[in-house]
Amino acid sequence: MNDTANVDTQEIEKFNALAHRWWDKNGDFKTLHDINPIRLDYIQQRTNLLAGPVVDIGCGGGVLSEAMAAAGAEVTGLDMAGKALSVARLHALQSGTTVDYQEGTAEQLATTHTAHFRSVTCLEMLEHVASYPSTVAACAALTQPGGDLFFSTINRNPKAYALLILGAEYVLNLLPRGTHDYQKFIKPSELCTAIRAAGLEVQEIKGMTYNPFTRACRIGDDVGANYLVHAKKPL
Ligand code: SAH
Repeated sequence: MNDTANVDTQEIEKFNALAHRWWDKNGDFKTLHDINPIRLDYIQQRTNLLAGPVVDIGCGGGVLSEAMAAAGAEVTGLDMAGKALSVARLHALQSGTTVDYQEGTAEQLATTHTAHFRSVTCLEMLEHVASYPSTVAACAALTQPGGDLFFSTINRNPKAYALLILGAEYVLNLLPRGTHDYQKFIKPSELCTAIRAAGLEVQEIKGMTYNPFTRACRIGDDVGANYLVHAKKPL
């Protein structure tokens, strides 16, 4: 696969079309805002974000990138949706945070920044790419030996279909219709296979549950729908 082949252009267009909505905490991306403090906390418990440069792959409007930068990290935010990046840059100006936002794929960045980053985050993104094993391998290439990686995505089973597609897109209107394609959801076993094939070691798998009524989010053992994986690159 060449460096730009791992892009689903229809997916990128969906995110470009919604770019102006990114920082509306009660809008189309409200679930990302609601889950952000708890996922940042999880990442900070398992890595030292100040120990070296951090890259946020598929950063979108920068919800996580900015929070990591506000916590003192040196953050690069990478995405293929140029309009989302414009919104991210503008928001960083307003909030006074510094993030180096760049347009591109993980595969492209890995050709110039091999083993550069101490921590790599790639959250809620793998279910939108053409080939997630390619993205995982590129994330591995970007990481320093001994560095930490965090992936999150959605499990593929009837429960995830009911919650994320029927519930979130059709019943509760939490997410715009068409946000997710069930066929692109990834089972934890599949993601772990790709992580190990990339030469990484899986450290922990945790579920992330979200209550749309209270808007509360919890990290626990239920990996039935959204889940997070912490991996490490061996020294
Ligand atoms: N990680 C962010 C945003 C998730 S939305 C967060 O959790 O807050 C998914 C993002 O992945 C979108 O911004 C989309 O443009 C981006 N994306 C999808 N495919 C991509 C690819 N191949 N390379 C880079 N970014 C991609």
